[in-house]
Amino acid sequence: MPAAQPTVTVKTDNKPLSAPQKALRKLGLDRDIDLALHLPLRYEDETRIVRLTDTREGDTVQIEATVVSCEITYKPRRQLLVEVDDGSDTCTLRFFSFYPSQQKALAVGNRLRLRGEVKGGFMGRTMMHPSFHVAGGELPQALTPVYPTSAGLPQVYLRKAVHGGLVHAARHGAFTETIPQESMPPSTLRYGKGRDANSGSVDAWGLAQSLHFLHHPTPDVSLAQLEDRTHPAWQRLKAEELLAQQLSQLQSKRARDLLRAPALTLRPGGLHEQLLGVLPFALTGAQRRVGEELAQDLMRQVPMHRLLQGDVGSGKTVVAALAAAVAMDGGWQCALMAPTEILAEQHFRKLIGWLEPLLTPLGKRVAWLTGSQKKKERTEMLGFIASGEAALVVGTHAVIQEQVKFKNLALAIIDEQHRFGVAQRLALREKMKSTEAPDANGFDASASAPQQEPHMLMMSATPIPRTLAMSYYADLDVSTLDELPPGRTPIVTRLVSESRRDELIERIRHQIDQGRQVYWVCPLIEESEAIDLTNATETHALLTEALNPPGSAPVLVGLLHSRMPTGDKKAEMAKFESGQMAVLVSTTVIEVGVDVPNASLMVIEHAERFGLSQLHQLRGRVGRGAAASACVLMYATGDSGRLSETARERLKAMVETTDGFEIARRDLEIRGPGEFLGARQSGAALLRFADLAEDVELLEWARELAPTMLDQYPRQADQHVARWLGGKSDFLKA
Ligand code: ADP
Ligand code: MG
Repeated sequence: MPAAQPTVTVKTDNKPLSAPQKALRKLGLDRDIDLALHLPLRYEDETRIVRLTDTREGDTVQIEATVVSCEITYKPRRQLLVEVDDGSDTCTLRFFSFYPSQQKALAVGNRLRLRGEVKGGFMGRTMMHPSFHVAGGELPQALTPVYPTSAGLPQVYLRKAVHGGLVHAARHGAFTETIPQESMPPSTLRYGKGRDANSGSVDAWGLAQSLHFLHHPTPDVSLAQLEDRTHPAWQRLKAEELLAQQLSQLQSKRARDLLRAPALTLRPGGLHEQLLGVLPFALTGAQRRVGEELAQDLMRQVPMHRLLQGDVGSGKTVVAALAAAVAMDGGWQCALMAPTEILAEQHFRKLIGWLEPLLTPLGKRVAWLTGSQKKKERTEMLGFIASGEAALVVGTHAVIQEQVKFKNLALAIIDEQHRFGVAQRLALREKMKSTEAPDANGFDASASAPQQEPHMLMMSATPIPRTLAMSYYADLDVSTLDELPPGRTPIVTRLVSESRRDELIERIRHQIDQGRQVYWVCPLIEESEAIDLTNATETHALLTEALNPPGSAPVLVGLLHSRMPTGDKKAEMAKFESGQMAVLVSTTVIEVGVDVPNASLMVIEHAERFGLSQLHQLRGRVGRGAAASACVLMYATGDSGRLSETARERLKAMVETTDGFEIARRDLEIRGPGEFLGARQSGAALLRFADLAEDVELLEWARELAPTMLDQYPRQADQHVARWLGGKSDFLKA
């Protein structure tokens, strides 16, 4: 890849930074290109001078007028009142704060150029705190940009810096065209022109021209088009950005296609088939289809890079286990990494139950790795992993730690992938580097030259809306489990005000009487884990008392929170799983993956504080068995007496649908893509100009162009990616 575009830093000497320079840096405006891409929030029209008589209330206007009186009055409070006359009419200027120098500039007889909002009123036209300077001087030809700024960074200073950056960057060739002219998206073409019949060239907005225009538009532009970003200059910028994203992901996909991974085989009568035989249920159609997709990938000698998405409870684990069986059958190792210890443990137990009887005759086992493990056990596990005796390793982040040496890792599975960071996923991939081929296959990996990579399967219960999948996840193959196992009854979701807590306790008792179990999730208080804890402890005490009236059979209420030692957590969880405990009060540690099919009621306290996808995940803990299940979202309106707009939207979405895809779509609407991306979100890699809801057409254009461009214009493609992503494109590849 060629070096990034030449960039000129704004400051090259070693003098300390001034306050505005510091503020610039804080806004990330370091390089010329950063400044050039810092686009205006809005514009002011200083290109015209209007007559006072032609102004209407509410107009923001520029006038030139002469001061006819200037006085300080004290009613109702101290203020400077200035009357000006422009020959067509008069206007009163009102200043509540002013310096003596300003007062001097506003002396009677001075002629001024003024700018402000016209207000009508009892005393005739007024302007509050208009900006002003001496009349005369040339009028600007373009609208004046107003930039997003921060404290300590005056607009005038920022304007100059941005303009300087723009000019420098252009001079150093930062905006050379990279997109083939004949492929420009239609929305960037000049109106009424399109293709020039004579030259055959397309008259599209150029990049340099677009940027220049957006910073300094001519006064005849439609402000609406600038504001809603439909103007071709805006379209051009968005197109650039989306194309960069597509190119970079396609590049990483192609780079991966050059790597080698073990080509696995599906052996008749092998582990895969045996595992199918011992499962206590038949696979759903979706599980079979996705299983097939995974098997196809594993048989190629190119590393799989696949996201398996499926709503909570759709049965991703077993699909992953079947893929693991294919790898283990060939004598290779697999790793399954989960974000929390509870989840990892649960996977471990389930997988041991299914697989250990099949692995033992082969002299293999399932190993277990977590951070909280005793040293002795850990050492033993590390031994199993290094020797290859552990065909499958299940664990938390501990799986990717330095000391863990696999003998021959062929498949890495990451559960709830969005909860892991980029660095962690890259580390897992690194693990393959120490790998040898299995003895069983009788070939020696050191002889087969190319570096082997593991196949990678990422799982997520947060479905990705289509536009996100097309953009941020364009380098991934995606499989979707779009069917729940049979016999599940839909979960009924109810909103209940906190004031009805007593009724709720009645309902809980009813569930318990029927032999069912209940989750009670305590409020999320972001500022303080300590308050979370107090809340959970209090609720636990309250429920224990309410559910154990004198003389009745005892009801066990448990408590689970993140500060408990791991051993205690496991013990509580085990009691709930065995059915011995009827109610589990917890902070959000149960959020992901926990699977207790007998639990049929989920109560979420202060549901208004949770994010939509989190609520959906929590709700997914019930409705896993055949019993009719319910989720009660308890809300409190707090001091204001009402819920915030977004809280209301979230709760409404929860009541209206249980479909994870619909939830995801609404979540995207409510929050924008940032939070969705989980680990992928690195501010740098987020789209700044394009909007996935608005710009689907441009996105489709970019998707189509990217492969052609890589094939036919590889140099421009590299240049394009370097310009837009610089060194940041790596983030998109993890
Ligand atoms: P998730 O996709 O949320 O990770 P799990 O893999 O935990 O879901 O599966 C949810 C529950 O459904 C588990 O108890 C699992 O054993 C069960 N399950 C999975 N597949 C099927 C199936 N085809 N039929 C019946 N139950 C299934
Ligand atoms: Mg799961």
